Amino acid sequence: MKKNLKGISLSELESYFESLGEQKYRAKQVFRWIYKGAGSFDEMSDISAGLKEKLKESAEIQELKTLDRRISKIDGTRKYLFGLSDGNTIESVFMKYRFGNSICISSQAGCRMGCAFCASGQNGLLRDLSAGEMADQILKAQKDTGEKINHVVVMGVGEPFDNYENLSGFIKIINNEYGLSIGMRNITVSTCGVIPKIKSFSDDFPQVNLAVSLHAPNDIIRKGLMPVANKYPYDELISACREYTKKTGRRITFEYTLIAGKNDDNQHAGELAAKLQGLLCHVNLIPVNQVSGLAFAPSARDNADKFRERLQKKGITATVRRELGGDIDAACGQLRLSRPVTIN
Ligand code: SAH
Repeated sequence: MKKNLKGISLSELESYFESLGEQKYRAKQVFRWIYKGAGSFDEMSDISAGLKEKLKESAEIQELKTLDRRISKIDGTRKYLFGLSDGNTIESVFMKYRFGNSICISSQAGCRMGCAFCASGQNGLLRDLSAGEMADQILKAQKDTGEKINHVVVMGVGEPFDNYENLSGFIKIINNEYGLSIGMRNITVSTCGVIPKIKSFSDDFPQVNLAVSLHAPNDIIRKGLMPVANKYPYDELISACREYTKKTGRRITFEYTLIAGKNDDNQHAGELAAKLQGLLCHVNLIPVNQVSGLAFAPSARDNADKFRERLQKKGITATVRRELGGDIDAACGQLRLSRPVTIN
């Protein structure tokens, strides 16, 4: 089997070149080409013909297949359906903001976390994505739009902390100056609350932004929505988040999806505010996006505003998230809805 060079670290690529009897600096050239989006060795104009042939014998640069692309008429958001080499599919969403271009990428094909309101986990976990498959979502979107992507959020399909090693490799590659040169502070990783990995993350990537999906003011409601809460109790999660902010000095974003009649009344807001007192954080309120087959209704807009005001009054900063790509099912939890999970 040929070695896929997309997704391996620069130092691993250098060792590989040494094993081929080539000089290290050649690896840097190839690495640069891969993250410029080159799909073949032939495109690498500063590489000798001899080396190209040698590489072709033992290595390849795998690419995702674009199976579908939808462009929002409202705001230009683009949703992609990508095919992996084994036939599984993933989705990514490209968004334009005033501050630059952003992409929401997937970290796994499917998800085993089983959150009740989310479309991504409905069929369980199929497999982890490699670092290269994560990075390629950015490369494909850049090629398609002709624009540079400056911000990356790992908030698509999958639980990134359930695929920590590949996530780490991915972050290092896109941050590398010869890779995509995306600053650590321009990367955000969202977790459903895998406590041990929150700790590792604060050691390994203290400058990368962390978002934690909370969705409830207490354990009882959280357990009803997120099975992961059975493993990692609410109060321990909040303590781990406090530790994180102390260690990194960085603000955590809590995601809180507002579900009518479940977690969205005045009392819930008060209880949440009490739990988060003194924690360096921001709460992102997201009226739940409806997923077909799931019986959850979003809170009304003025209810969402009241929830936000209650938090603000108690000193917790919060915003109600603006939805992009509403006409193309691009919103959180809706990815991979209208397509089969695997193509045969
Ligand atoms: N597994 C990670 C990242 C992927 S989910 C996590 O849980 O954070 C990205 C965000 O979308 C999470 O906050 C998730 O809870 C939220 N989400 C999932 N389904 C949703 C839905 N139907 N409506 C609104 N938000 C949803």
